[in-house]
Amino acid sequence: MEVRNLTCIGCPMGCPLKVEIENEKVVNVYGNTCAMGVEYAKKECTNPTRIVTSSVFVEDGEIDVLPVKTEKDIPKSKISDCIKCLQGVVVKAPINIGDVIFKNVSNTGINVIATRSISKKSN
Ligand code: SF4
Repeated sequence: MEVRNLTCIGCPMGCPLKVEIENEKVVNVYGNTCAMGVEYAKKECTNPTRIVTSSVFVEDGEIDVLPVKTEKDIPKSKISDCIKCLQGVVVKAPINIGDVIFKNVSNTGINVIATRSISKKSN
C-alpha cells in the first residue's frame, strides 16, 4: 500500500492528510477535519488539477499587462504547456473582465479569461 502525506488546500486550516492508496485508488484518508479533505485527497491523488493564473501583454491600454486565469481547473500535467501558450500573447484594449483571451488552452477545452477590465489609452 502506498501512503502519501498532503496538506489540504480546501480552507486556511490546511489539515495535514495521510492518504492510503491501493491499486491507484484512495482507500483511506486520515487527518481531515471535514469531508472536503477526503474529496481533495481523492482528486489530488488520482486527477490533480489547478486553476492557472498568469498575465499577457496589452496594446493601446491604460496599463500594459493584463492578469488572466483559466476559467476552470486544468490537469496539473498541462500547467507548464498552458504558461508557454500564453507567452508572447498580446491583446488589444479595451478589454472587459471575463473576455476570452485564449481558447481551449493546451487542448484542455478550457479558455483563459481576463480577470480585470482595461480601458483604451487616452491620447
Ligand atoms: S479538511 Fe476541511 S477543514 Fe481541513 S483544510 Fe481541508 S477543507 Fe479545511
